[in-house]
Formats: sequence, structure tokens, C-alpha cells
Amino acid sequence: MNAPEKVADAVQSDAVLAPVRLYRAAPGDSALAARLRKEVEGEVLFDAASRGRYSTDASIYQIEPVGVVVPRTAEAARIAVQIAAESGVPVLPRGAGSSQCGQTVGAALVIDNSKYLNRAIEIDAEARTALVQPGLVLDHLNARLKQHKLWFPVDVSTSAQATLGGMAGNNSCGSRSIAYGNMVHNVLAIDALTAQGERWRFGRMDDRSGPPGYLALLDKLAALYAREKDEIEARFPKVQRRVAGYNLDHLGPPHANAAHLLVGSEGTLAYFERLLLRLTPLPVHKTLGVVHFPTFYQAMDLTQHIVKLGPSAVELVDRTMIGLARDIAAFRKTVDAVIKGEPDAVLLVEFSGDEQVPLVAKVKQLVELMADLDCRAAWSRFSTPSCRRTSGRSGRPA
Ligand SMILES: Cc1cc2nc3c(=O)[nH]c(=O)nc-3n(C[C@H](O)[C@H](O)[C@H](O)COP(=O)(O)OP(=O)(O)OC[C@H]3O[C@@H](n4cnc5c(N)ncnc54)[C@H](O)[C@@H]3O)c2cc1C
Repeated sequence: MNAPEKVADAVQSDAVLAPVRLYRAAPGDSALAARLRKEVEGEVLFDAASRGRYSTDASIYQIEPVGVVVPRTAEAARIAVQIAAESGVPVLPRGAGSSQCGQTVGAALVIDNSKYLNRAIEIDAEARTALVQPGLVLDHLNARLKQHKLWFPVDVSTSAQATLGGMAGNNSCGSRSIAYGNMVHNVLAIDALTAQGERWRFGRMDDRSGPPGYLALLDKLAALYAREKDEIEARFPKVQRRVAGYNLDHLGPPHANAAHLLVGSEGTLAYFERLLLRLTPLPVHKTLGVVHFPTFYQAMDLTQHIVKLGPSAVELVDRTMIGLARDIAAFRKTVDAVIKGEPDAVLLVEFSGDEQVPLVAKVKQLVELMADLDCRAAWSRFSTPSCRRTSGRSGRPA
């Protein structure tokens, strides 16, 4: 829905594709602000200071919004979207604004979900699902889930700020995506509001229980997928952390889920009101191997062999990050305990599961693998193998 202004003319010339007429709204548009204040239950922030605050996010970009609405209720958000559509103003949903590519800045009406629309509506521990509002922060959800020995495993490093709506919006990946996938693999359904004002539950495409308009959309999506599936198969990169573009490949088997088209759509297709998430049992045990490398290149190069051991996380930390962490008093003790010498980079390799013994065996395999790859394994209580040479696969441990 946060359509760029230049799309306006093209959209207006095609009545079938034109849900809204876009115009170049002035920042702080007083008529729009007045209408929003009258009809929307929430904060309406159109003053220069607020527009200044919301013209930034975690990216390097700055764009002044038309104004900001902080809705107190889902109904208020709905009315704000409707008013924006009627006024021809693009809508830009926002969570924590921690995206790094400018996704949450734009010449639009910003809808900030983080302040009030942040409830876990229903947690079903037996079915392992959670229905949440878009502004709920990941850490807050996981704190609630702990008592059920469950968690939502897309563990982005901004988990203390990131909202589930924003995470779905940009198809976030966590450090454990190698084991659990990214958002598109963990969102079951999304209750969303379209630019035409329809509220549909987007979900599995074989579920034909929705209203006629939604079912017609499903038919269109299925036909689109049938027509393009060879091209999708040929062109879509076969990488797990693919977060660019619309997830057209998820419109067919084995996924065939319309919600997956919304995941990663960056607010361009619909406004998410509620998300149904798949939960995962918390692992009982974890072990960690810290592999030291004399070059950054080698750490990157050898990861391909390490992932074959089935770790739950492989996280690269380079010399700069190690140095910065050493400078912070709270981290120094841990860094000094775990980092041996002056590596150019380390890989944190985590194994997790319900039994500890197989995990310790996995770390031993990691040490052996490092030896096979011509690295010396410095076995410690924390299973810390260290890699000695700059490259190559030959040789034995020293
Ligand atoms: C230091 C740092 C570390 C990071 N580490 C990671 C990481 O490990 N993994 C990772 O994937 N990312 C990472 N990020 C990027 C970012 O923090 C995460 O992707 C985060 O999950 C985004 O959540 P958010 O609430 O900030 O979303 P926002 O940035 O607010 O929004 C993201 C997108 O979703 C859309 N959106 C928000 N709400 C809705 C809604 N209700 N309906 C429709 N669309 C909506 C927005 O328009 C935007 O396009 C990092 C960023 C920083 C600054």
C-alpha cells in the first residue's frame, strides 16, 4: 500500500488495477489531519517534530511522511486506512522501524502499530499456534510462550524491538533460520485489510471457507501460479534466506498459502491486522562450538562444510565486532573467555535438541571436521575448535 508516487499516473489510467487514486500529498496536510482526528481513535501526529521523527528509521534514508496515526484499536487502524484510501494518500504501516533499507520511511500516512496494537490475542499451546496483533514485540511474545515450553523461532537480533507485523512485512530471518526457516515458513495465516477495504483471512489455498471475493482472488493466484510455475521454478534462486520480491513460489505446492504472498510484501499489498503464527518447542539442550579463523574469507568459505553437520545456528562474527564487544564492559568477560588469540573471524556453531549426548557428539564431529579441513581443534569445556590455516582442505590436526 505504500505505493511510490510515480505509480500514480499508471494506476489511474487503468480502472481495473486502480484501488486508490494517489496524489502528491503535502506533509502535514491539515485537512487530512483534521478528518483523522475527528474519526480515528488514536494519536494523530502531523506536527513538524513528529514528521521529523518518523522521517527516519534504521536505514540511511530520510523521507518526510504526510503524517502519522498511532491507532488505539484495530478498528481505528481500519478507519485510518479507509480515510487514506478515500483521500488518495498512500499508507505506510510501521512496526519498530528497524528495517535497514528505508521500508518504513515514505511520503505517506504512516500507521504505527507498535504502541497500542501489541497484544497476543490467543495462544493455543496444544495446537502450537499464536494469534497476535501486528505491533507485538518478538521478545514479549517469547516471554509469554516460555511457560508453555514454546517459542517463535524467527529470532532476529533486534528481538527486543522487532514487531511480528514488521517481521512478516519484510520476511525477517533469525540466526537460527537454517533450522527453523524465516517468517514465510512460520506464518500460517494473516487477517489483512486490502486497499479496497476488504478484510480477509489469507491462508492455505485449499481452505475454501472465505467470502466470494477472497475465493475469486485465490482462483486468480492459482491460475497465475499454474501459468508461471515453470518460469518460477527456473528463475527463483534456490536459497533458503530469499527475502527479495513477492513469494510467488509459495502459491503452489508444497506451500500453496496466500498469506505467504503477503509475507515480505513490505506493506505494498495489504495491512496486516492479525497474524497466526506456528510455534515450536523450545530446545532442551544447546551446545556451542566457536571456530576461529585467521581470515574472514576462510570463515565464509568453510561454512558450506559446517552446515552439513545440521547445526541450529551458524553465526559469523568478525574482528571488528569482536573488538567492539571487548570495549563494552558487560561483554568483555565473555569475549575473553571464548575468543582465543586474535582471529580475523569466528563462527559460532550451535547444536540444539532434547538430548545432550548427541549434541556433544556433534561438537566433536565439528572438531574432527575442522581437523579434516586442516584446522587445529582446541577442545575446551565450551568446545572451541580453532582453525589455523588460511585455506585448503588437506592435512591433519597439529
Ligand atoms: C542492528 C540490526 C540488526 C538486525 N538484525 C536482523 C536479523 O538478525 N534478521 C533480520 O531478518 N533482520 C534484522 N534486522 C532488520 C530488522 O530489525 C528486522 O527485520 C525486524 O524484524 C523488522 O521488524 P520491525 O518491527 O522493525 O519492522 P519495520 O521495519 O517497522 O517494518 C518492516 C516492513 O513491514 C511492513 N509492515 C509493518 N507492519 C505492517 C503491517 N501491520 N501490515 C503490513 N505491513 C507491515 C513495513 O511497512 C515494512 O515494509 C536488523 C536491523 C538492525 C538495525
